[in-house]
Amino acid sequence: MKGNFPIEKLKGLETPFYYYDTDLLRKTLDIVASEANKYNYQVHYAIKANANPRILSIIRENGLGADCVSGGEIMAALNAGFPTDKIVFAGVGKADWEINLGLDKDIFCFNVESLAELEVINELAEAKGRKARIALRINPEVNANTHHHITTGMKENKFGINLDQIDTVLDRLEELGSVQLIGLHFHIGSQLTDLHPFQTLCARVNDLQQQLSKRKVFVEHINFGGGLGIDYDHPNRNPIPDFQEYFKVFNKHFKPLPDQKVHFEPGRSVVGQCGNLIAKVLYVKEGSVKKFAVLDAGFTELIRPAFYEAHHKIENITSEEKEETYDIVGPICESSDTFAKQIDINKAHRGDLIALRSAGAYGEIMASQYNCRKLPKAYFSDLI
Ligand SMILES: *Cc1c(COP(=O)(O)O)cnc(C)c1O
Repeated sequence: MKGNFPIEKLKGLETPFYYYDTDLLRKTLDIVASEANKYNYQVHYAIKANANPRILSIIRENGLGADCVSGGEIMAALNAGFPTDKIVFAGVGKADWEINLGLDKDIFCFNVESLAELEVINELAEAKGRKARIALRINPEVNANTHHHITTGMKENKFGINLDQIDTVLDRLEELGSVQLIGLHFHIGSQLTDLHPFQTLCARVNDLQQQLSKRKVFVEHINFGGGLGIDYDHPNRNPIPDFQEYFKVFNKHFKPLPDQKVHFEPGRSVVGQCGNLIAKVLYVKEGSVKKFAVLDAGFTELIRPAFYEAHHKIENITSEEKEETYDIVGPICESSDTFAKQIDINKAHRGDLIALRSAGAYGEIMASQYNCRKLPKAYFSDLI
C-alpha cells in the first residue's frame, strides 16, 4: 500500500521538496492532547525535530509547550507564539548569550546538565538580579536499546548529571542564591519502539525521589523527555504512534509525589509521520551488477540514512508498473549518499516522483547546503 498523495498537484512543483500532511499532524496532536489530559500530563514539543514555522504554529495552536536546545530554537518558539512560561531549555552546551536570552525572556525552566553550567547560570542570573528556575537533567543509566548515535541515558554519554554526582550538585545548589530547583529532567534516547526502557526509567526515578526525600529535596515537576518511536516500515498502517500505551506506562509505573506535575518532550512521535521528502528520478543507471535510481535529492535534504543508518519507506508514486530492484541514491559526491540498497519499487523512469516517507522529524531541519545546493522548500496538504 502506498501513501495518499495529490499527485497532479505535486507534479507541478520543483523537486526536491518536503510535503507535509497537516491533517495527519492535527490528528496526531489531538491524540497527544487527549491521552496526556487523561493524567494531567504536560507536553512540550521538542523543536529540534522540526522547526518549520508553519508546523510550529500548528503545534502551538494545539496548546503544546516548546522544548528548546539552543537560543535559535528559543527564538523560533517565540516567533511561533509559544508563551514564555511554556518554554524549557535543555542542552549540554548552552552559551552565555543563550542563557541570557532565556533569562531575559523569563522562560519556564533551564534543564541543567552539569555543575559547571549551574555555576554559570547562577552567575548570569545574579548579574541580572534574577532567579533562574532550573531542573537538573539526570543521566539515569537506562539503556534505551536504540541506535548508539541516539542513546543518551548511559554513563558514558555526554548528557546529564550522573547519579553518583547528584549529592555534590545539591550541596552546591544550597549555596547558590540565583537559581531555584523546580524539577528533575530525564531523556534516555530516541526512536524507542519497545516501551520497557521507559518502565525501567520510572523505577529509577521512583528510587531517586526516595533517596532525595531523605535530604528533603522535593521538586514540583518530573520531566521524562521524549523518545517515543514511530513505525518507519509501515507509515500507512501506523500513521500515529501509540501515545495511549506510552502515557499508560508512566501512569502505571511512576509514583509522583503529592501535587507533582509530570512533563514530556516528544519530538519525532509528533511530526515524524506527517512529513515526506518528494524527489524526482533523474536517471535510471544500469550498472554492471545492479540498477540505480538516481534521485535529485540526497543527504543534503534527508541525512538520516547516511547519519544513523536509518531506513525510510520509499515509494514510486507515479508508476504502477511491475516492481524492480534498485539502489536508491542521491546526487551528492559521497558514497554514503544512498537512501536504500536493493529495494523493490515500481519500475522507475526519468521524471517519476519518489516519496521518502516518515521524514517529518530530523529531515528538513537537518538539511544542508553541501555541494552548494539549495535548501528544500516545504508544501502543506491544506495549502497546495
Ligand atoms: C531530542 C530531545 C527530545 C526529543 O526526542 P524525540 O526522540 O524526538 O522524541 C526531547 N528532549 C530532549 C532533551 C532532547 O534532546
